[in-house]
Amino acid sequence: MSQQPADLMERVVNLCKRRGFIFPSAEIYGGFRSTYDYGPIGVQMLRNVKDAWWRSMVQLRDEVVGIDAAILSPPAIWEASGHLTSFADPLVDCRECKERFRLDKLDDPDVCPSCGKRGTFTEPRQFNLMFKTHAGPVENEGAVAYLRPETAQGMFVNFKNVLETSRKRPPFGIAQVGKSFRNEITPQNFVFRTREFEQMELEYFVPPADALRWYEYWCEERRRWYVELGIPEDKLRLRPHEPDELSHYSSGTSDVEFLFPWGWDELEGIANRGDYDLTAHARHSGEKLEYFDQATGERYVPHVIEPAAGATRTMMAFLLAAYDEEEVRGETRVVLRLHHRLAPYKVAVLPLSKKDTLVPMAREVLASLQPHFMCDYDETQSIGRRYRRQDELGTPYCVTVDFESLEDKAVTVRERDAMTQARVPVDDLVGYLRDRLA
Ligand code: ATP
Repeated sequence: MSQQPADLMERVVNLCKRRGFIFPSAEIYGGFRSTYDYGPIGVQMLRNVKDAWWRSMVQLRDEVVGIDAAILSPPAIWEASGHLTSFADPLVDCRECKERFRLDKLDDPDVCPSCGKRGTFTEPRQFNLMFKTHAGPVENEGAVAYLRPETAQGMFVNFKNVLETSRKRPPFGIAQVGKSFRNEITPQNFVFRTREFEQMELEYFVPPADALRWYEYWCEERRRWYVELGIPEDKLRLRPHEPDELSHYSSGTSDVEFLFPWGWDELEGIANRGDYDLTAHARHSGEKLEYFDQATGERYVPHVIEPAAGATRTMMAFLLAAYDEEEVRGETRVVLRLHHRLAPYKVAVLPLSKKDTLVPMAREVLASLQPHFMCDYDETQSIGRRYRRQDELGTPYCVTVDFESLEDKAVTVRERDAMTQARVPVDDLVGYLRDRLA
């Protein structure tokens, strides 16, 4: 791979807009405060990120099951989890320019990054990040509901339901992928920190004596997942939290960090949460949230290891890591070297010309590929421009139908990274691509 440009972030944000990955939300009304919409290409890629996670965490394991819990939730859950009292960030106001900041994210806690003045901040106050709303037509205290700020509590409150219906026993896990909402003080860096985002979380329930071993297992397992999907090893690290950084319930937390253009920052947190969550919900709900081992007659509250990742933030890291520019015959080629599992389209079918003679065969080829792969079809512009477009979308293979194809019933398959071309009989095409996209 060639050197990545200094203004990488700007280029990726531009590419996202230009090619339909990510748009600023409500753009025709001037946008809406750091919220984003995923376009035709982005929705595909985000789905692939989530599917790759689900495949590795649920499909390839027999001890993990999934759920999809409600986003709207009653105060009782958040009282028990501690979010209502302690899910807060320190907020400071600049007396000079009136801007607000999250104190723990400032480079210098005495200097306002907006107006540059020193010593203008108010005393920090704790700002709760929960989005509060009302369920039903009456807006009184009894109708208060919250949008979940994490998916994790959905797993804890369903622990008993899942245990009873799935016949799992520790070690076992409950996985969930879905939207979470946090009223972030300073959303920033494109989709890195937004108020509405998607998470991919696993709660892994283990016998207490095995917790440390499983914590170490999941740290390594999760690091490996990012590397397997194309994040270079030198842009990824596991950073154990210092003792003063740990949440009160955690006996160990490590962050998977990616080298973003602004420095190392978190993609995922892996926490050894002990029995904090199940015990808290058992106390508040009056339900027994424990495991009874019939073989040994032992009854215990499992400990929890939690790998908690962000789907939208991770998608951004994959885009940044994949972005590349290179000189090809005097022109700059922009290419997203995405792992094929993450690529929005796996294959693009391109008739060499729009002439009526080629289109029917190209459409036939497309129809034969569509049941197996997510495909794009493009018959506009020159073939060179169409290749460039697919390079920018990260499409691993382009299939070109040319005039010879009508004779030899074969097509040209162009590979994205090396730009090598191979002639492949149409009858072998699905197998050829399947071998390479498995
Ligand atoms: P931070 O300290 O950066 O606010 P956190 O440590 O509170 O984040 P977690 O609660 O551990 O984050 O959430 C797990 C994952 O969810 C994060 O690693 C991140 O990938 C994702 N995530 C959390 N908040 C946001 C957000 N506002 N926007 C996008 N992704 C987020």
